[in-house]
Amino acid sequence: MKRWFCGDDQVVLRILGGRSNCFLVQNHEHYLLVDTARTNRWEQLSKILDSLTRKGGTLDTLVLTHTHFDHAENAAAIKTKYNSNIAVHRSEADYVQKGDSPLPQGTRLLTRLVIRLFAKALQPHFRYKPAEVDIKVDERFDLQALGFNGYLIHTPGHSKGSMSLILNDEIALVGDTLFGRIPGAVFPVYADDPALLIKSWKLLLQTGCKIFLPAHGGAVSRELLKKRYEKQSRRYNKETS
Ligand SMILES: [Zn+2]
Repeated sequence: MKRWFCGDDQVVLRILGGRSNCFLVQNHEHYLLVDTARTNRWEQLSKILDSLTRKGGTLDTLVLTHTHFDHAENAAAIKTKYNSNIAVHRSEADYVQKGDSPLPQGTRLLTRLVIRLFAKALQPHFRYKPAEVDIKVDERFDLQALGFNGYLIHTPGHSKGSMSLILNDEIALVGDTLFGRIPGAVFPVYADDPALLIKSWKLLLQTGCKIFLPAHGGAVSRELLKKRYEKQSRRYNKETS
């Protein structure tokens, strides 16, 4: 299990890898889960969570970086089994409560085609078991009260309500705001508003974070994000001027 230490008290564990990452943040006896992966990973996910929480910890909070099905499909099961509060951005809370995903937009020829040709057929597969949301996040939400040194910030672009979790101003868990599947390429293959996404990259760079952990693929360094931001912001400034 890959882990990153973050300050004296906090550790980030990548408890599921593969197609979708699931990260667990631990601060002493408090655990916070970031995203849930798909239902076909439930058995594996719950087994890991059981073994960790059996040692005395509690999974107080589930943060959904956004509400696409591959992040939220197990939200209801987590809430039922571990009695966790669900935190999501206010603009996407209804999706969780209805068990639905906002339809994404492609950023490449292939993904644009997939959405254009198959959106209607795909939509029913984007549904999942609904769950009640406990914490509706606006622009920023401090995690101190939940036992963590960090905060959630609204980083829209991939979806309207995408959020990132900033820990100790060192490590950011960014959901699909960045992709890490292809080394060197960090632009997500789906984004509703690419210009807004680039603005969110700027917000991430305004933190002190050195490591950015996407929900798909490996870690992205600050240097790489900075390089890609400079290139993409020139492109989008040109398009909007
Ligand atoms: Zn997504």
